[in-house]
Amino acid sequence: MVMEMTPHFSDDKVALKDALRRLRWLITGIEGSGIQHFHRQRTVLTPTPMPVEPSPKEDQPIGKGRGALLAEVREDLGDCRRCRLHAGRTNLVFGEGTPEAELVFVGEGPGFDEDRLGRPFVGRAGKLLDRMIQAIRLSREDVYICNVVKCRPPENRTPGADEMDACSPFLFRQIEAIRPRVICALGLCAAQALLGRAASMGGLRGRRFKWRGIPLICTYHPAYLLRNPVQKGAAWQDLVQVSRILNETNHKG
Ligand code: SF4
Repeated sequence: MVMEMTPHFSDDKVALKDALRRLRWLITGIEGSGIQHFHRQRTVLTPTPMPVEPSPKEDQPIGKGRGALLAEVREDLGDCRRCRLHAGRTNLVFGEGTPEAELVFVGEGPGFDEDRLGRPFVGRAGKLLDRMIQAIRLSREDVYICNVVKCRPPENRTPGADEMDACSPFLFRQIEAIRPRVICALGLCAAQALLGRAASMGGLRGRRFKWRGIPLICTYHPAYLLRNPVQKGAAWQDLVQVSRILNETNHKG
């Protein structure tokens, strides 16, 4: 199930340099870092050859549309009390975005702002995620964003294994409903939930995995990037991989 790919940046060093400047500008707001250049020239990433596989979109179940399938998952969750996290929640945060998304971001769980508003990634980390999405020339409306657990863990602690086990079947159904072209796991918790095994982020980054046939890229959680801005360049490299996969599948038609 696991497939590894070593990034090939030699062909597009110049484009990558420009792209790094673009991300720096988008994330830090540093002026004069070459953003004008990006308005003129879209960063073109050379697709890396990979084995030909059926497009995930072709595997879409016939019958119900993606929106209806997602609504069914939400209905099945109901006023969920399947794990202890229900006790502290203000709102269950299901996820949001278009059911037609080609890119799904999976985070860990709701934080304070998300719990309060019932929406994923709306706090400071959410603002950074928005800029990361913009950096690959998409908008929040183009993607789907959700978490492994739908209720806020107390004090924003990492969800326990039993809580992830209780909630992740609904995450899996969300992704199956959408069948995006690529999944981006934000942080270790999401990566582990999708890969079904423990690993370090160092061992997961820079590799291409598959989740039920859908390409999966792992990167840092935006909250981690806020605490460790030095890793933003590495996160950009991961986003380049995401963008590259979207380009590849688009080229396939
Ligand atoms: S975290 Fe998931 S499984 Fe636990 S109560 Fe909330 S919705 Fe239910």
